[in-house]
Amino acid sequence: MAKVTIQSSGHVFEVKPSQTILEAAIASGVNLPYSCRTGACGSCKGKVIAGKVMHDDYQNTAMTDVELAAGSALFCCARPLGDLTIDVRESVGTGIKPRILPVRVSKKELLAPDVMALHIQLPASERLQFLPGQYIEFILRNGKRRAFSIANAPHADYGIELHLRLVKGGEFTEYVFNELQEKAIMRIEAPFGSFHLREESNKPIIFAATGTGFAPIKAIIEHMLYSDIQRSMTLYWGGRQLVDLYMDDLCRRWAQHVPTFTYIPVLSKPNVDWAGRTGYVQHVITEDIPDLSGYEAYVCGLPNMVDDAQKQFAAYGLPQDAFFSDAFTFAPQ
Ligand SMILES: Cc1cc2nc3c(=O)[nH]c(=O)nc-3n(C[C@H](O)[C@H](O)[C@H](O)COP(=O)(O)OP(=O)(O)OC[C@H]3O[C@@H](n4cnc5c(N)ncnc54)[C@H](O)[C@@H]3O)c2cc1C
Repeated sequence: MAKVTIQSSGHVFEVKPSQTILEAAIASGVNLPYSCRTGACGSCKGKVIAGKVMHDDYQNTAMTDVELAAGSALFCCARPLGDLTIDVRESVGTGIKPRILPVRVSKKELLAPDVMALHIQLPASERLQFLPGQYIEFILRNGKRRAFSIANAPHADYGIELHLRLVKGGEFTEYVFNELQEKAIMRIEAPFGSFHLREESNKPIIFAATGTGFAPIKAIIEHMLYSDIQRSMTLYWGGRQLVDLYMDDLCRRWAQHVPTFTYIPVLSKPNVDWAGRTGYVQHVITEDIPDLSGYEAYVCGLPNMVDDAQKQFAAYGLPQDAFFSDAFTFAPQ
């Protein structure tokens, strides 16, 4: 076993030969930041201060060769070659270890031509503990995994709601849309992810979502409403056309009834009769709020949008530690 020490906190954990550094950290209750777990998003990137690592496959967009040469590592696919000291910004602990569970499909509901709400249920004796914003992984028959964010808040734990966007030619989403029957049994591992509400803060929140990136944000908002958290929150939800904002009605209802909540739908390719905001969410946000220094941002959607939002918001004063995101990367092939 290799011993890994986190320089800033002094936390130490052991890594088995079969484990990546992130897998060992999760198993030991050490909170490294992460999202995709497949070397695609870069959320778990940190520095190796002493010792050496070997990487499994990862995407160059998540870590460039220049970063690798300068001592960076992607801990979700790095394995230690002996003891290590690393440097990484630890995230707030969830204290919840992921478990493998059987689930039954209770309902499929088409929310838009390319978005399906999939409702799944755990066995009657089980409850899934999770934080709003976290995600589950389906374990396919061939052992591959597919990640989807939980769209309901933890208090509504009688079931799990997911919003799946159809990926053309996608192994899993094509199956769910075209073949999966209600009552089917599947296997998941959950919960995962460090994209969740930081409840210790009082800063006003900006939520930025595109497409099904709304799912984990819906979970966070529902949790805030249920827990009567009185922080100001503004949701910018972007899509090409209004049909992409598949729960627009719900957001408008929240805006009508919740004084702390504001909703700004943003369309990038609207019909001529659209009178609302146009363009990309991240740009509309900085048009509205040119000084982001006092805010927290929770951003979720495709990797390009998340990347662009991080750069854009930093340029408008958002502190690095006030930016939280989940990038919906594709599963590795
Ligand atoms: C933490 C996390 C949470 C997620 N949550 C959600 C969620 O709540 N809802 C949701 O809809 N998705 C979510 N995703 C994304 C989802 O997991 C992927 O889209 C998944 O790969 C779909 O599986 P699939 O088997 O249908 O497609 P795959 O078989 O994985 O993909 C098929 C092929 O299509 C290619 N491809 C298709 N379109 C594109 C494109 N635009 N750009 C690049 N490559 C493309 C891929 O490279 C791949 O080769 C999440 C991803 C992560 C990492």
